[in-house]
Amino acid sequence: MAVLDLVTLRWVAFIYYAAFLILLLLIRQKHKDVPGTLSWVLFTALIFGEATIALDNDLRRFSDFVHVGNAVILFGYMFLMVGCVHFTRSRLPKKLLLYISLFIVGTGLLSYFTQVPTLIRVSFAMSVIIGSMLYSIIILWRWNGFRSKTEKNFLMACLAIHLLAFIVRVYVNAASVTFNFNPDVVDSWTSLTLVVTNACILMSIHLMITAFKHQRLEDEIRARYDAEMNALSSLQKVQEANESKSRFMASVSHELRTPLNAIIGFADTIQAGIAGPVNEKQQEYLGYIHSSGEVLLRLINDVLNFTTLKENKVSIRAEAFDLTQLVAETIPMLDSILTKKSCKLVTDFKSKEQFPVCADKIRLQQVILNLVTNAAKYGPRGGVITVTVETRPDVVRLSVQDQGPGISAKHKSEIFEPFLRAGQESLGEEGVGLGLSICKTLMQAMGGDIDFENRAEGGSTFWIDIPREYRSESDLEGYI
Ligand code: ADP
Repeated sequence: MAVLDLVTLRWVAFIYYAAFLILLLLIRQKHKDVPGTLSWVLFTALIFGEATIALDNDLRRFSDFVHVGNAVILFGYMFLMVGCVHFTRSRLPKKLLLYISLFIVGTGLLSYFTQVPTLIRVSFAMSVIIGSMLYSIIILWRWNGFRSKTEKNFLMACLAIHLLAFIVRVYVNAASVTFNFNPDVVDSWTSLTLVVTNACILMSIHLMITAFKHQRLEDEIRARYDAEMNALSSLQKVQEANESKSRFMASVSHELRTPLNAIIGFADTIQAGIAGPVNEKQQEYLGYIHSSGEVLLRLINDVLNFTTLKENKVSIRAEAFDLTQLVAETIPMLDSILTKKSCKLVTDFKSKEQFPVCADKIRLQQVILNLVTNAAKYGPRGGVITVTVETRPDVVRLSVQDQGPGISAKHKSEIFEPFLRAGQESLGEEGVGLGLSICKTLMQAMGGDIDFENRAEGGSTFWIDIPREYRSESDLEGYI
């Protein structure tokens, strides 16, 4: 067996351990949250310390060197153990660790003071064997945490090399006693096996940390995925519940409309005297039946409109027409509400003026009716409602100004949301909070827009933008 150059080997060990110490420091810096890394830094620092001492030949000749060097390695391996125990987050009995440490330190001290060489070997072997064994056990224990095959294979290879080097060391040392080997040969082999085993240990530590991180990342991703799936299924449930609610409302409203029309119709017939003479009091009461029926019908129509819009059942039939003409046709339909609130409706455009637009006439009329009705409903009795029309790039803007309270900042964002009534719930004006939401859906379906602003002099202006030219189906996709 050729004698290995001891000095070179010591230098190799020194550079090796210096590199490992730097590596471990970097790992610690990057993965502070991985348990055990601090102890592993100390482990590398101590074996690096031993390698530094070993470089000095004078020191090596010093008779106590073997004790100093062994003590440093011994503590190093103890930190390797502690790091491993931390890493597993296991509840390995601390007392057991204490007893092992006391045993190792005790035999070390005893061997030092009594100068018994076998004791030196025992304490040294114990620390190295226990430290290494524990590290192997931890790898196997953590085996399930290594989900990547490459990591597993690398670790197994490290472990195998480590154990092999360890066996060589034990063999060389044991054989040296029997066959009286040249001490330099024994020393060389021991140093070499130490370099190899430590290299394997450090590699494994790095792999274990990586695997730990991967595992944690995977767990996080899984947890997030589960949370998202849960949220999704809750959302689906809410959507389903919403749809069945809409279907229920639609069918109920539909069923209510027929008898209600009959009530209004028969009230009209009786009022007209077709079924015989009606006195003044009866006329008055029939009037109440009629107007209440109308209010109820409007509400039911709102709900029906909303549900059919939500189910995308409405089709938009865009055509080109003059907006002033449509406004002129719509004004008479507002008579009853304007009379009821004694409001005056003024338009600021000349009847001959033309504003060509391209939209669904019936749907647009529905929107205008809604805006003017709201202006009357929420405006003061005897107020003035102004309808203006102006041409803008690509659109014609129709605005409805009122002298009402305007929309408070608090409710600005919810005004177009279904069923939200911006504080009107308890103020007595009839409604269900669907009108503006329907208007918005319709305007968007026609390729237009709707919004409002509060006026400085009080009241609000609701405006709609109507396209001047036909917008292709694809422009409107997603609305209807
Ligand atoms: P509804 O009139 O049935 O409540 P809308 O969707 O038409 O439903 O209106 C939603 C809410 O917006 C109303 O309850 C009201 O509080 C507010 N609002 C609508 N138009 C006006 C307006 N011109 N002036 C003040 N508030 C208004």
